[in-house]
Amino acid sequence: MSDEVIMQGKVATVHYVGTTPANGEQFDSSRDEGREPISFLVGVGQMIPGFEQEMLGANVGETRDFTLEPERAYGPRDPNGVVQMPKANFGDTPIEEGMMLVAELEDGPAPFSITNIDGDTVTVDFNHRLAGETLHFEVEVMSVRDATDEEQQHGHAHGEHGHGHD
Ligand code: ZN
Repeated sequence: MSDEVIMQGKVATVHYVGTTPANGEQFDSSRDEGREPISFLVGVGQMIPGFEQEMLGANVGETRDFTLEPERAYGPRDPNGVVQMPKANFGDTPIEEGMMLVAELEDGPAPFSITNIDGDTVTVDFNHRLAGETLHFEVEVMSVRDATDEEQQHGHAHGEHGHGHD
């Protein structure tokens, strides 16, 4: 049994189940078959703000339940994130409604979904799919350890359940 708790500068490994109370649907779960717990470096914004705030001070083995308003989750939906463009913009890429794609913009990659195709007009949505949603999480702390210097420099967790790069 470890006496480590989740705090700034630690790497926490947790199992989580996320649901949207509005419709009772599970939108993500690390407990799904083939999934593993996730690791994150605390205090650098790797997780949505409320997730980290609610888990601060949690012990290994502890389970916490909490509900986050959009402001502490993925933020409100931005109506300006919905954009119409000519189908020609996609060139030879085969597109259909519901597809997720990534645009390479000046300030980095921006994922978006295709919400409608009407003749030559394509409507896309740059909002996160959970923007505007109230989220509920059940989170179990599997382990907590000190972050390495390298992790602190990179601003993310490495290792088995962390961010992979060599
Ligand atoms: Zn790294």
